[in-house]
Amino acid sequence: MTPDKLCGQFLGKAKGNLKISILDQDTVVFEGSKETLEFVGKLFISQAQYESDCGFGMSPVDAGKRLFIKKSKLGFYIHRVGSDRKCDECSRAELPRQAE
Ligand SMILES: [Zn+2]
Repeated sequence: MTPDKLCGQFLGKAKGNLKISILDQDTVVFEGSKETLEFVGKLFISQAQYESDCGFGMSPVDAGKRLFIKKSKLGFYIHRVGSDRKCDECSRAELPRQAE
């Protein structure tokens, strides 16, 4: 399922309660209910498999704001690198090494 369709399916029925915040200088926190976190997990998988576009983002003040609680100041952008589909960001991105 495409990321857009997945969002339509989840956010068409319910509001999310995701809060993304900075815990410390090395850590970002994704906080939400079971349903919200499961949706975010599926969204990562969907974007990883979506060949037509390498990136997908959601923001508390823009597209996908129904996913977030009002107190969330941060959104997110998922960017898949290392595939045929390339954007300007892809050209600059260094492919992270796989864990061994
Ligand atoms: Zn890209």
